[in-house]
Amino acid sequence: MDISVATYPEIKLLLDGEWIAAGERKSQPVINPSTGEVLAQVPHASASDLDRALAAADRAFASWRATSAYDRRRILGRVADLLRERATEIAPLTVLEQGKPLAEAMADVATAADMFEWFAEEGRRAYGRLIPPREAGRRMLVTLEPVGPVAAFAPWNVPAITMSRKVGASLAAGCPVIYKPSEETPATAMAVARILIEAGVPEGVLQIVLGDPDMISRHLMGSPIIRKVTFTGSTPVGRQLARLSAENLQRLTMELGGHAPVLVFDDVDIETTVRGAVATKFRNTGQICTAPTRFLVQDAIAERFTEAFAEAARNLKVGDGFDPATQMGPCANPRRVEAMERLVADAEARGGRVVTGGKRIGNAGCYFEPTVLADLPDDALAMTTEPFGPMAIVRRFSTLDEAIGVANSLRYGLAGYIHSTSAARIARASEALNVGCIAVNNWQVSAPETPFGGVGDSGYGSEGGLEGLQAYLAIKFIHEGA
Ligand code: NAD
Repeated sequence: MDISVATYPEIKLLLDGEWIAAGERKSQPVINPSTGEVLAQVPHASASDLDRALAAADRAFASWRATSAYDRRRILGRVADLLRERATEIAPLTVLEQGKPLAEAMADVATAADMFEWFAEEGRRAYGRLIPPREAGRRMLVTLEPVGPVAAFAPWNVPAITMSRKVGASLAAGCPVIYKPSEETPATAMAVARILIEAGVPEGVLQIVLGDPDMISRHLMGSPIIRKVTFTGSTPVGRQLARLSAENLQRLTMELGGHAPVLVFDDVDIETTVRGAVATKFRNTGQICTAPTRFLVQDAIAERFTEAFAEAARNLKVGDGFDPATQMGPCANPRRVEAMERLVADAEARGGRVVTGGKRIGNAGCYFEPTVLADLPDDALAMTTEPFGPMAIVRRFSTLDEAIGVANSLRYGLAGYIHSTSAARIARASEALNVGCIAVNNWQVSAPETPFGGVGDSGYGSEGGLEGLQAYLAIKFIHEGA
């Protein structure tokens, strides 16, 4: 594939159907994490840009909610088709701005297409119901209505997928959406937005804003026009948005961080488990909220598992996302590299073992070695803080109760993984793990048709599944008859 920096687009805002270049606005650079090179400048939306977006969303709501579910399906179905057709144009943008290997970026676009397709169909199944009335001649109806204009805030790790979850659900439910991608990955969002417009999404129904995240979220959420807020990102920012939502009582979906426990019992095939573990752990350089992170491994196999896991991690080919041999790209930004260094330094200071990795690679770009730590005390930073990077921690356990105790010791509760051939162990562990989604003897905790979300400090609400659509629908009860 022939791709160069020159193909990276000029970044623009999308307000009321119009693409708007930076002009006199403040801006900030987008940086290729593989090379450190500046790709483009991101314009910062001003307060008047945001007011324009709010007014347009308010206007667009009247017509989009009146567009039939059948027509909305047609448009969103076309989005899915176009995403599949244009995957080779979109995926390289993700590689440039985010760093992941091209094959992973292609998989992101494929998942985004599946997600739009799911919501396109599910929008037609937003059924209400009839409740048997108390008196003859009356009717008791429950209808579902779009909740209203949405403000959606997304991070930089899987830009096409996050957009499909939030925009797909909003539009399928009949809600216009003001979407703020991460300023670090704006081109993927712009490319997906262009497809939505081409597929027939009307002016004002999808808008893209970029700039100062704090200023934008305060401004949008300070308006009563916004009725629903969806955020994917860190727990501290989630808390801040939850506070902001109090003023206008906006509904919230919060997909926050995680620190997923993986329970590996001594009855598993080590080789198979390690193969899946390494592929899942280091996908997207570990920058996935559901990434398996705390590997709790039963005593009898702990040493062999740790060695095999470290060996496989060490053999991963780390490099630029456009190199077909690359299995793991750079971290997406310098903050992640610094976080990795902090966690490794703390682990070493507390007597932990760096089984493999632990260091940044080279001087250019945001490269960090696939890292496996072991023998850490339970209060080491790496055991308690979400690494969100290429780091796995192996911790031994002897009994199931001990493993559950460690797994549930954090306030996070997003994904959990169980590997065992014992039905009894699987049943006990899946019941006891305090998380929102569990993969048993596999590594997949989400799909477009399944609800995805966490508990505790990992947030609340679901994206995907029928629950993902319901998050954008308000319930109305109508009682007819004299
Ligand atoms: P961060 O918390 O500063 O930002 C996370 C995302 O939220 C960014 O895209 C940012 O633009 C946005 N954001 C920040 N402040 C905001 C505000 N006031 N209003 C609206 N959006 C705002 O952290 P970061 O350094 O970008 O990412 C690191 C941490 O974020 C990770 O440790 C991880 O916990 C979390 N994260 C989680 C996910 C996820 O999928 N749940 C994805 C990316 C990052």
